[in-house]
Amino acid sequence: MPERGRLFVISGPAGVGKSEIVKTVLKRHPDVSLSVSCTTRAPRPGEVDGVSYHFVSDARFDELVRQDAFYEWAHVHQNRYGTLKEVVRAELDAGRDLILEIDVQGCLQAMAQDDTVTGIFVCPPSRENLEARLRHRGTETEESIRVRLNNVARECATAYKYHYIIIHQDWSVEPNALEIAAEQVYAIITARRRALESNRTFLDELNRSLNA
Ligand code: 5GP
Repeated sequence: MPERGRLFVISGPAGVGKSEIVKTVLKRHPDVSLSVSCTTRAPRPGEVDGVSYHFVSDARFDELVRQDAFYEWAHVHQNRYGTLKEVVRAELDAGRDLILEIDVQGCLQAMAQDDTVTGIFVCPPSRENLEARLRHRGTETEESIRVRLNNVARECATAYKYHYIIIHQDWSVEPNALEIAAEQVYAIITARRRALESNRTFLDELNRSLNA
């Protein structure tokens, strides 16, 4: 039987680039998987059912909740999102390390049921940088910039609940910011694989054979 995989939760404020970071990790490291969540929100242009999300009706989501099919689920921005237990079980049993890209409520639920879950929080480098990026887009009003900065402030205040912090530098400051952040996430995954707890069975067998 393969060694069981490990669970990694990645969260961060909207627009900080966490999806791009996760996509880069998956492209470079096929030994890591991503869980596809269920959501009641409508697909955005270009999103594919079963790839971006499993897009489900409210009634179907209710049914999945009743069936206790979710590993975790939460209300986020007027919609519901959830990770299927079956996906987590299948990937971890197959020995694959699995990333959940979910919000802080989901992360806390995952950590509460499994103390080996690793939480990774992606932050913008600074308030000034975030503000400059929002202004640079030229599409935001002063009011919407203020609302977004408040939201980011609220979200970053929850980063203390996580084990690791990734700072996604602006590409104008660091042209390889995306690749650097992705490699930092993979370094955390590698470190967890090499942790004593992940290697106890191997060490026990090695020491038993050496002492035979
Ligand atoms: P979006 O609708 O922009 O794709 O995602 C909105 C938010 O929902 C993001 O913060 C994302 O991380 C979170 N999210 C996506 N899937 C899940 C999930 O399965 N569970 C939880 N708790 N949050 C999720």
